[in-house]
Amino acid sequence: MTDKELYESLTYENKNAYLEMSDAEKDEMYSLCDDYRAFLDNGKTERECVGEALKMARAAGYTDMSEKDSLKPGDKVYKINRGKNIFMAVIGSAPMYEGLNIAGAHIDSPRLDLKQNPLYESTDMALLKTHYYGGIKKYQWPTIPLAIHGVVYDTDGAKREVVIGEKESDPVFVITDLLPHLAKEQMSKKMTEGIEAENMNVLIGGMPIKAEDVKEKVKFSILKILNARYGMNEKSFQSAEFEIVPAHKARNVGLDESFIGAYGHDDRVCAYTTLRGILDQTAPERTACAILVDKEEIGSMGNTGAQSAFMMMTIAEMVEKATGRCSVTDLNRVIENSAVMSSDVSSAVDPNYTSVSEANNASYAGRGVAIVKYTGARGKYDSSDANAEFVHEIGELMDNDGVIWQTGELGKVDQGGGGTIAQYVANLNMNVIDCGVPVLSMHAPFEVVAKSDVYMAYRAYKAFYKR
Ligand code: MN
Ligand code: MN
Repeated sequence: MTDKELYESLTYENKNAYLEMSDAEKDEMYSLCDDYRAFLDNGKTERECVGEALKMARAAGYTDMSEKDSLKPGDKVYKINRGKNIFMAVIGSAPMYEGLNIAGAHIDSPRLDLKQNPLYESTDMALLKTHYYGGIKKYQWPTIPLAIHGVVYDTDGAKREVVIGEKESDPVFVITDLLPHLAKEQMSKKMTEGIEAENMNVLIGGMPIKAEDVKEKVKFSILKILNARYGMNEKSFQSAEFEIVPAHKARNVGLDESFIGAYGHDDRVCAYTTLRGILDQTAPERTACAILVDKEEIGSMGNTGAQSAFMMMTIAEMVEKATGRCSVTDLNRVIENSAVMSSDVSSAVDPNYTSVSEANNASYAGRGVAIVKYTGARGKYDSSDANAEFVHEIGELMDNDGVIWQTGELGKVDQGGGGTIAQYVANLNMNVIDCGVPVLSMHAPFEVVAKSDVYMAYRAYKAFYKR
């Protein structure tokens, strides 16, 4: 062995996934990414993503677990929680107490929610007050076309689904911003203060109607339209869940179409590839599970977040239906032997801002799926730090299956940080590791991912189910 050969065998270098892929793999990648773009366009809220997942599951022969009295190997079941979580499983041939393989992603994305009393009139225009959800850079949201998605109860008490701004023939909405000519004061503010949350009001109308003794004639006109189309009155907003999201569609990016730009890659890119990974499972050894959760962007709180008891309750129901019993000890045994892929995105090194990352430990767009031992901030606070045994096991699984992967820390140690659902899953006493697609412009209205990494995430989740 020459010194050069020895050096190469002793050192490690990231690989670009595009360079490592066969033509057949590239074909599979293009087709997966076309399907993924359609998923993004149809799923801009957590509810819509659950709806899309349900369609995919039913088409693949999954049935509602509540309708089953018992479960046997090969059975495919799902369970939905409040329209915002879906748990899916393919029952394995191995005894359940040997543990489950669970991949979990979140389907909520940063956005603007409408307040409970949002509608008001000012300067002959009607506007909607918003309350931002998740970590956004507020200046990115004015002056882009916006759509409204949500559910509302009409005055007869019927639930209505509303989507406005997605069809070519639909109007869109917008938050206006100050012209540069008059922005002297605004432009000298810090970026966090340049756009104030209370100024993020969505323009919804401006055509007053002739009406005697009516003070707010534009607001009146908008309420008349809402009433005619959706049976709403102003009070209907109080219980409604309306989300303001970018109206643009997912698009290929780059002359070589190597990237996808879209709203909501975090974390629908991992949700979609997780779904595709479990849909490939027909007769797994260990029971294969996938869960899509809500509220990750605000701390995994609430009854639809990863911290809710929904997953454990569903696993208990599944164990009972598969084995005839599920004592607390039975459940504990299943859980302690289970492993979880926390399918969530990481940050890709941005060529415009390389200084915030530490080159040797950052993840890069195009270099495959990122497997992240720990997230958190500063001294690893708020992090689940996967143990060496589990990281080694997952690394071997990936290598043996030809998955191109890289490691990744979220920026330089003192720069900031972030978390995922991993820490909450780890609290349940399962092995868990973060694994997902590196994203450029994360949390922006138009995030960017490399197609190779989308494909490698799918391959990674698929390989994980072989565990
Ligand atoms: Mn995420
Ligand atoms: Mn996020």
